[in-house]
Amino acid sequence: WTWADECRLAPELLRAVERAGYKKPSPIQTTAIPLGLQQCDVIGIAETGSGKKAAFVLPMLTHLSTKLPPMPRSSSEENQGVGPYALVLAPTREIALQIENETVKFADFLGIKVVSIVGGQSIEEQGFKIGQGCEVVIATPGCLIDCLERRYADLNQCDYVVLYEVDRMVDIGFGPLVVGVLDAIPSSNLKPENKDEELDKKKIYRTTCMFSTTMPPSVEELAKKYLRNPVVVAI
Ligand code: AMP
Repeated sequence: WTWADECRLAPELLRAVERAGYKKPSPIQTTAIPLGLQQCDVIGIAETGSGKKAAFVLPMLTHLSTKLPPMPRSSSEENQGVGPYALVLAPTREIALQIENETVKFADFLGIKVVSIVGGQSIEEQGFKIGQGCEVVIATPGCLIDCLERRYADLNQCDYVVLYEVDRMVDIGFGPLVVGVLDAIPSSNLKPENKDEELDKKKIYRTTCMFSTTMPPSVEELAKKYLRNPVVVAI
């Protein structure tokens, strides 16, 4: 398919994709984007540089744009405590900032606010930004836990979660932190475990995805516990 065929993408995003110069979807995007737009939990496995980030960013932003009334931008006071509705966890500051870049490129077209929570910057300032209201948070697990413990942010409104390079997060020992973050998200909107159970069309379920270059057994337990009937897309 071409970008224009995928009419479930928010129309503003079609313009953003064109502006970014993305002529056609990459192989991982071709499969993962339609699944993401159906709010399917996806495990995406593909090489570095294959367009993995936009493969989850575009469905995530479409989900936000259809779900949300626009956040008033005029006064940050009005937005206090709004969101985050979507969370991306990444293993390192550099990767989190790359994801932020790739997200902002598209989110700006929808007026969606993105905040990153990473090391090397003041946690108070980053926490303050979240407190002023934002739809998307992109974070490394340790810094996010710090923010949650200081009550700068909570994840009570979060229903779109992406674990990026989850293999690396587990390798470097962030597994328990990732679990801590996931357990801080309400579980009331998880899809039923039994895939034959009918979904309530009026309800918004949590989407949880993993994108990485490998999917070692160490990650499978996380996937089993937090993803619901995920579709594996391996390129
Ligand atoms: P990623 O693998 O997500 O880090 O993407 C690698 C590079 O490819 C980044 O510079 C993206 O901006 C770019 N990119 C992602 N998707 C596309 C696409 N469909 N067409 C052209 N460039 C892309």
